[in-house]
Amino acid sequence: MENPSHSDETQAVTTEDVAELLRGAGLRPTRQRVALAGLLFAEGDRHVTAEWLHEEALASKVPVSLATVYNTLHQFTEAGLLREVAVEGARTYFDTNTSNHYHFFCERSGQLLDIDTDDIRIEGLPEAPEGMAISRVDVLVRLIKKNG
Ligand SMILES: [Zn+2]
Repeated sequence: MENPSHSDETQAVTTEDVAELLRGAGLRPTRQRVALAGLLFAEGDRHVTAEWLHEEALASKVPVSLATVYNTLHQFTEAGLLREVAVEGARTYFDTNTSNHYHFFCERSGQLLDIDTDDIRIEGLPEAPEGMAISRVDVLVRLIKKNG
């Protein structure tokens, strides 16, 4: 399925584009939401934590608290604009690519990289327990630096 928000062409995202994106997801385009969405959706697919986006917002002179960034990321996720990727413990990443895909996780840098679903084949999944169905399989491939 084509997602029109993930085009390969690099093009500037205007405030109006962002406001439209928010309205389309059923969110009121407040100043803070527009500013944060502008940072998130400006350039291709991204994986961010609330802390990273908060730092980026401050560096871009967007005055928001970490709590606001956190709440906004969760609102965007509930509205289907982001996908949450749990890596470990309390660390949550928010992915602007909401399509089904897997991830490399670099343990040293904390970066996530996309893996196309076609590049991994999952076989031998167990039957879901009675009355349940499998909704999704998450794969996280952990990376460490090679020796030598
Ligand atoms: Zn991803």
